[in-house]
Amino acid sequence: MGAVPKRVGGSGALGRGERLQGWVFDPAAQVFRLPDWERRGLVVLCSTRLGGVSRGPYGSMNLSLGVGDDPGRVEENRRRLAGLAGVTASRVVFAQQVHGTRVARIGPGDEAAPRGERTLPATDGVLVDRETSAPVLLFADCVPVLVHARRRRLVGIAHAGWRGAAGGVLLHLLEAARAAGAALDELEVALGPSIGPECYPVGEDVVEAFAAAWPWSRRHVRRQGADLRGFLAEQAARAGVEPRDILSDAPCTACDPRLYSHRRDGPVTGRQGVIVGLAGFASGEGDRAPAVEAVAEEIR
Ligand SMILES: [Zn+2]
Repeated sequence: MGAVPKRVGGSGALGRGERLQGWVFDPAAQVFRLPDWERRGLVVLCSTRLGGVSRGPYGSMNLSLGVGDDPGRVEENRRRLAGLAGVTASRVVFAQQVHGTRVARIGPGDEAAPRGERTLPATDGVLVDRETSAPVLLFADCVPVLVHARRRRLVGIAHAGWRGAAGGVLLHLLEAARAAGAALDELEVALGPSIGPECYPVGEDVVEAFAAAWPWSRRHVRRQGADLRGFLAEQAARAGVEPRDILSDAPCTACDPRLYSHRRDGPVTGRQGVIVGLAGFASGEGDRAPAVEAVAEEIR
C-alpha cells in the first residue's frame, strides 16, 4: 500500500512485464483507490468508515439504508461518495443485495426506462457499458469482485460473500461481460477490500458447501480460515482470465480499522461502498434512467 503507481502508456494497457499494483489509500479523500484502473478511464473507488456524517456504530460513512442508521445521514454519505467519484448523484445505482448470483446489465436501451428509484431489486452483480450509470455495491467483509473489459469498454461489479462465491457469482459476472461482447483475453478482474483468511474461520457447513460445488476449493476454504479472495482468484483463472490480469491482494476489513467489518463489529455496523463506472460522463444525456436487464441467470 502507498506505493506510487508507475505510469503506463496512454492506451491503458499494461506494458510488458507490468502487473496490477493494487489498492492505494488516498488520505485526502479517505478512500481506497485503484490507480491501475483509473488510468484506463474508469471510475473506481472503495469508501471507508471515514469522512461521513453517521454516528455511533455506523460512524461515519455508512452507505446502507438497511442497517438501522438515520436515512438522512446515509443520503448525505451517498452524496459524498458520488462527489468523491466525480459522478452525478442521479447516475449512481444501488442494488438490493441478497447473496445471490443475479447480474443486471445496464444499457444499451437507456432511453426506454422511466426515471425513478435507482435500487435494483435482488441483484448481486451489475455490468455497465455506458457512462450514464455508476453502480455501487455495499460491503462489510464480503468480497467486491470487479471486472473490466479493455477493448469492449465495460465494467462490472459483484458482491461475493461465501454464499455468492460458492454460488458462482463471479462466473455470472464474467459470463455477463462475455454476453455483452467482451472477449476472454481482454478481461481483468480485481478483488476489493474484504475479510482475509486470518480473520475468517468458518463452519464445516461452509467448507462442505464449497467442496460440493468446487472440489478444488479445499486449499482456500478451511475451517480455520476461508480465503474467499484466493478462491475467487483461482475461479477467475480457471474461467480463462490471465493470472497477470487478476488482482487478489486487498486490505482485510477485519484487520483495518478504517473499514467496516461485520465479523469484527457484529451486526450493528455500517457498510462501505465500491463504485465503478466509465469515466467522462457525456454532457447532454440528461438524467434518463437506463434500462436494466437481467443476464446470465444460468451458468453451466
Ligand atoms: Zn484480517
